[in-house]
Amino acid sequence: VLEAEGVHLSFGSTPALRGADLTVERGEILAVMGPSGSGKSTLLHCLAGILVPDAGEIRFDGRRIDGLGESERSALRRDRFGFVFQFGQLVPELTAEENVALPLLLGGMRRAAAVQRARSWFGRLGLDGLEQRRSGELSGGQAQRVALARGLVAEPEILFTDEPTGALDSLTGEQVMALLVSAAREQGTTVLLVTHDARVAAYADREVVVRDGRVNSYSSPRVGS
Ligand code: ATP
Ligand code: MG
Repeated sequence: VLEAEGVHLSFGSTPALRGADLTVERGEILAVMGPSGSGKSTLLHCLAGILVPDAGEIRFDGRRIDGLGESERSALRRDRFGFVFQFGQLVPELTAEENVALPLLLGGMRRAAAVQRARSWFGRLGLDGLEQRRSGELSGGQAQRVALARGLVAEPEILFTDEPTGALDSLTGEQVMALLVSAAREQGTTVLLVTHDARVAAYADREVVVRDGRVNSYSSPRVGS
C-alpha cells in the first residue's frame, strides 16, 4: 500500500500540492485524473520518491519514504518501482532489447541473463523482430511498448505511469493500454496511472480526480472489476 497524507509541495511561490491525500491499494490500477496544472505529475513524483514534499507524509507499506535520503529513495525506485512516461525516454543509441534490459542491469543482473529476460517481452508485446533495432528508429507506438516492457521487466511492485499514451494516436494508445493492463495484472503489479484522457482512465479499477493540488473526489469502484 502506498499512501500520501497531507502532502504540500510548492515550486518557488507556485503551490502544486496543497494537502493531497491518496491511498493506492496493492494490486489495483488507479487512474489519477484532473485538469492540466492540477498537480497530477507532482503527486506521482512525490509518491515515487522523486520529489520530497514540503509537508505531509508518503508511506510505502507503512514506512515513511519522504524522510529518506536521495540514495535510499533512488534504491527504492530501482528495486521496487517501475516507470513509464509519456515520451518513452528510451536511450536512442541502444537497441530495443538493451533498453528493456537496463533496469535488470542496474539491479545487478548479469548481461546475458538480462538480455534474455528482456527478449521474452518482445513477443508478448507484439514486438517480434525489433529486438536489435536502435530505439531511435522505432515508431511512436513501438517505442512506447518498449518503454512499457522496460517499466515492467524487473517485476516492480508499483508501476508509475504518466500519460503513457499521450504521444500516441487513439488506436495505438488503446493497444498500449490494453497491453499495460494485461501485463500488470499478470504480474500483480500495482499501477498508478496519471492521465487526463477518460478513455485511458477507463482501463483502471478506480479513479480519483486532482484539483488545485488536492485529491478531492473519489469515484466508486467500477462495477465488475
Ligand atoms: P498536466 O496535465 O499538464 O501534465 P499536471 O496535473 O501534471 O498537469 P503538474 O505538472 O503536477 O500538473 O504541475 C502542478 C503545478 O506546479 C503547475 O502550476 C505547474 O506549473 C507547477 N510546476 C510543475 N513542475 C514545476 C517545476 N519543475 N517548476 C516550477 N513549477 C512547476
Ligand atoms: Mg503532468
